[in-house]
Amino acid sequence: MNLNSNSTRKELPEVVRTPSRFRNPIGKYRLNRTTDCIGCGKCVEVCAYGVHEIKRGLVLTKNHYLCVGPDCPRPCYDECPVQALSLRKNPTFDAIGDLRWPPDLLVSTWYMAETGDVPPASLEYRVGASGGGFDRMRLALPPRQVKEEPENEEIDVGIELNRRDDNAHRIRIEVPFYGGGMSYGSVSITPMLSRIKAAAALGTFCSTGEGGYPDELKPYDDHVITQVATGLFGVREETIQRVKIVEFKYAQGAKPGLGGHLLGDKVTEGVARMREAVVGYPLFSPFPFHSVYSVEDHKKHVDWIKAINPLALVAVKVSTPTDVDMVAVGSYYAGAHIVHLDGSYGGTGAAPDIAKKNIAMPIEYAVPKVHRFLQDEGVRDRITVIASGGIRTPHDVAKIIALGADGVCTGTADLVALECVRCHNCESGRGCARGIATTDPELMELMEVEWGRRRIVNLFLAWRKELVRILKRLGMKSIRELVGRTDCLVHLDYMKR
Ligand code: SF4
Ligand code: SF4
Repeated sequence: MNLNSNSTRKELPEVVRTPSRFRNPIGKYRLNRTTDCIGCGKCVEVCAYGVHEIKRGLVLTKNHYLCVGPDCPRPCYDECPVQALSLRKNPTFDAIGDLRWPPDLLVSTWYMAETGDVPPASLEYRVGASGGGFDRMRLALPPRQVKEEPENEEIDVGIELNRRDDNAHRIRIEVPFYGGGMSYGSVSITPMLSRIKAAAALGTFCSTGEGGYPDELKPYDDHVITQVATGLFGVREETIQRVKIVEFKYAQGAKPGLGGHLLGDKVTEGVARMREAVVGYPLFSPFPFHSVYSVEDHKKHVDWIKAINPLALVAVKVSTPTDVDMVAVGSYYAGAHIVHLDGSYGGTGAAPDIAKKNIAMPIEYAVPKVHRFLQDEGVRDRITVIASGGIRTPHDVAKIIALGADGVCTGTADLVALECVRCHNCESGRGCARGIATTDPELMELMEVEWGRRRIVNLFLAWRKELVRILKRLGMKSIRELVGRTDCLVHLDYMKR
């Protein structure tokens, strides 16, 4: 019996509707109202989505972004007695995003972050448009039952993170994901705090990334993963002792073979102080850890953490080279609790394409390879496998778990909940017009911590709901039943015609 157990179940937070912080949120459709409008109020009455409103006696189309377009059961433009309304696609919609995060996925993620539920059918929220990776796979779900079972049926999506028989913390997370590292410097303290507070509310964790442990995170120690990366920025014995999980970052899927690079204009006074660097000078993290060239060296790293904080779980983040299976099994024998495989579809806009697109294996190949190798070695049930790099939707979560992971790390999805538009300007100090990937004091003013916390909580409550629906349709009671069930997937390339 382990006396350090903290595996108790936690109540989930309520959804609090949290609309966009911008005056004109981007939606898929726009309604045009001509001067023929007689102000009868019929559109306000028939619209179930709150698109129109009456203000000081005037009928206004206030929330274009909530319009579901042709999916509307009672379209206002059909009911208007004088045909003053017409529907069109919002031209801005097609200008945002990229193939991995197409406009539908961005807008549906914003919808989930606002409402805590999946969007209407007019928005595709399950797959992107890349034509590869998760976008080429589907879950083999049986047809929907006419009479769905009640929503509150007990389906467990939580996972245990410590599967070793040792005395370290027993940790259960209530959702099969935690927040991946995003350093202080790459983003400001505002998104960092929003993410960590959301993780605390959801009963999970969030990693600091490699930029140190700002004091503002200290009230949430029990939900922080502190990262030890090659630059050792802000790494202290004190910060290792205050947390329950310590993560070694050996490599990053979006930049395999490269260390981090923070441009000088993001190295503000606070960032420089935290990293013991000089204001305005760029910072490079070396690659690799020059103290680790073998499993034995790696074990010394793990032992170092266990000597400083014997109760902490040790997570090992690696990219996906062709021998990733050997790396994973080596980490197990070195004493790690979690092996975190980071694929190349993720990363913010700062990740260089040359590394992202040409080095290492796609995550959907790496995960089953590691899963099977750990099984053959007889240690699969002694180590937790976490996958990351391009997990955008609850369907991606289910797919990667069916391929053999126990859970996932999120990153870009959290930023999209905060209204990132995937403009790929993250690396520059004043490049992020949404005030997310910035340390510029003026741009930081664009966002509040509490707003961000609620958006991220809502998004992940929607993901959780959808995962429960998927498991129900697969006839499973727990997300653990899905691990390695490749028979629950179909690849579009191999579908019978
Ligand atoms: S239903 Fe038509 S006429 Fe009536 S308020 Fe709406 S737009 Fe104006
Ligand atoms: S610069 Fe800001 S809005 Fe653009 S991709 Fe990066 S985080 Fe998103």
